[in-house]
Amino acid sequence: MSFPIVRQRRLRRTPALRRMVRENNLDVNDLIYPLFIIEGENIHEEISSMPGVYRQSLDKLEAEMNEVTALGIPAVILFGIPEEKDEAASGAYATDGIVQEAIRRIKSTHPDMVVVTDVCLCEYTSHGHCGVIKDEVVQNDITLELLAQTALSHAEAGADIVAPSDMMDGRVGAIRSQLDDSGFEDIPIMAYSAKYASAYFGPFRDAADSTPAFGDRRSYQMDPANGRESLIEVDLDLLEGADIVMVKPALSYMDVIYRVREVTDVPVAAYNVSGEYAMIKAAAANGWIDEAKVVLETMVSFKRAGADLILTYHAKDVARWLSEGHWPNQ
Ligand SMILES: [Zn+2]
Repeated sequence: MSFPIVRQRRLRRTPALRRMVRENNLDVNDLIYPLFIIEGENIHEEISSMPGVYRQSLDKLEAEMNEVTALGIPAVILFGIPEEKDEAASGAYATDGIVQEAIRRIKSTHPDMVVVTDVCLCEYTSHGHCGVIKDEVVQNDITLELLAQTALSHAEAGADIVAPSDMMDGRVGAIRSQLDDSGFEDIPIMAYSAKYASAYFGPFRDAADSTPAFGDRRSYQMDPANGRESLIEVDLDLLEGADIVMVKPALSYMDVIYRVREVTDVPVAAYNVSGEYAMIKAAAANGWIDEAKVVLETMVSFKRAGADLILTYHAKDVARWLSEGHWPNQ
């Protein structure tokens, strides 16, 4: 059948009809809001390349969490910025590390908030790489032990979900066994399964002070030219016990989100990264785009590609716009 029998415009005629046949939707429950926690006191400093995103000290967390809760956002993901860094990333798994303290604070004031923790070493190593270095090479298997210790320390502090982002081989399995052996068999793992060596991470590295001192991360993060390989990564993570799989970055990797969605029925998360955020904020600040409309369109595009969950610096704005009825825009 074809025109004039088929007329696709029939179902686009009114807002109500469009709402009825809309395939994907946005909901505040899709959102996970990233937070940068820095050691010190009374710190609430805006990250210059990420307007509206702040590095905050522990004493500022309660006010932040009040705001996040009031907006109905169900989850946050924590990134720590320690004062001291060393070769062994000891701040990553210290009982009184910055993230461990932040988890306890949030859980004491907002017990229902889902606290996700990024599990990696790069914010804590003096060289800025995601693992232990020997001869300028990140050592996979030794790093696994430290990642497992880090995840355990987060769980002990009260984290609800741990999210390894290092891209070492075997990390999900190592973390799963460590958690299970320690009585945390109910803590899910959200794996950064397809994480690419992306230039879109630039502003994040300013924010988290985690730029590698030498070399780059291409020997462990994925080559942006590869799509099929993401399915191998996802398969491995699922076999090792991942509960949620993630694609990062999101906007330039919609095909990867789609492919991952096609091969798995576990929840898929998309990380709308700092560079994607910075581009929209810069264009909006110049008056070149309508920020709310572009952000909401971007968010629903992630859903259309197959994501269930979206980690995004826009989360608070999205929640506000949703509550103000900006979505669905007619
Ligand atoms: Zn890392």
